Amino acid sequence: SAVHPGFERAAIVDTAAIRHNVRTIADYVRPAKVMVAVKADGYGHGALTTAQAALEGGADWLGTAHVTEALSLRRAGIEAPILAWLHTRGTNFAEAIEDHIDLGISGWELDEVAAAASRLQTPARVHLKIDTGLGRNGATAAAWPELTQRAYRYQEEGLISVDGIFTHLAVADEPDRRETDEQLEAYRQALAVAEENGIVPDLRHVANTPAALSRPDAHFDMVRVGVGVYGESPFADRSAADLGLKPAMELRTTVANVKRVPAGQGISYGLTHRVDAPTALALIPLGYADGIPRIAVHAPVSINGHVYRSAGRVAMDQFVVDLGSEDAPVSVGDQVVLFGGESGISAADWGEAAHTINYEIITRIGARVPRIVT
Ligand code: PLP
Repeated sequence: SAVHPGFERAAIVDTAAIRHNVRTIADYVRPAKVMVAVKADGYGHGALTTAQAALEGGADWLGTAHVTEALSLRRAGIEAPILAWLHTRGTNFAEAIEDHIDLGISGWELDEVAAAASRLQTPARVHLKIDTGLGRNGATAAAWPELTQRAYRYQEEGLISVDGIFTHLAVADEPDRRETDEQLEAYRQALAVAEENGIVPDLRHVANTPAALSRPDAHFDMVRVGVGVYGESPFADRSAADLGLKPAMELRTTVANVKRVPAGQGISYGLTHRVDAPTALALIPLGYADGIPRIAVHAPVSINGHVYRSAGRVAMDQFVVDLGSEDAPVSVGDQVVLFGGESGISAADWGEAAHTINYEIITRIGARVPRIVT
């Protein structure tokens, strides 16, 4: 038996779930627009697959980190607006301008983008980014007046048009924390400063998935959502199902080996785990080279629809599940689901077992696992 004809392991990507999740989020945030983050290969689901499904579900914009990610989508025929927001000195702004990619601007990029626009005689569309507290990209409050003045001058010269002003939130996944209020206040101040300097953009955007779902005061003109579109919850205390979201990735394989072992049998490198009673072990043919975290212990795995737990360290290509009894009804070839689908296990459950978050689990599923789009 195979997980899908011809495949021994697969990440099955459910485009109906992506469409459903976009519609669900759009319902929360209307009349604000929806930008879907499809960076990092659509959080591991396939950038093009995700982009197409998101647009079918009603997304207005797509978002990527790199210009190269945005250009790949254009080359594949995606015509929707795309914003790319993380650049380095080598970034090809000219190609981005020619292919109608909007560019996030935190500071140094502005002059380079304006110079590329001047050479091409085509105005660049930009979104200015203000750092309201995350401490990552974006202009500081101190640099903001000068950046907006410079942007105004370039806009007057016809080299750029400022279509958006945005910021990114640090703690929106913890709705009780006051820092989100502080960031929203700093954002409003930045909008006022920009306006004093002649910049009034059509698209003010702040909210990631947690803010889209919990902070209507952060919706502004558009939200930028990723994890919720993939059917995972950004909150520790609310599941995707609680939020009306459906998992878009199901990670499947089949049992590669089953054997009975006596009490005391050690499991995997380091012998960090020994079974305390006679039991049967199932071998799962996915490992850290496939993105299964090496440190995940006691992680849930569904075999034939029943949830068991992993034992011992995850290795490069495989890990072991303790079936809990010598005569557990599991055989070579039986169906295994690590998360998603009907398993009742989420990527968040794997995140918990591996001291990380669902975002990291889904984005790191490796290239050796084929994506099967349904
Ligand atoms: N906006 C920016 C700038 C991001 O970097 C990301 C992803 O990290 C998002 C929005 C989407 O965040 P989330 O997946 O939490 O919805």
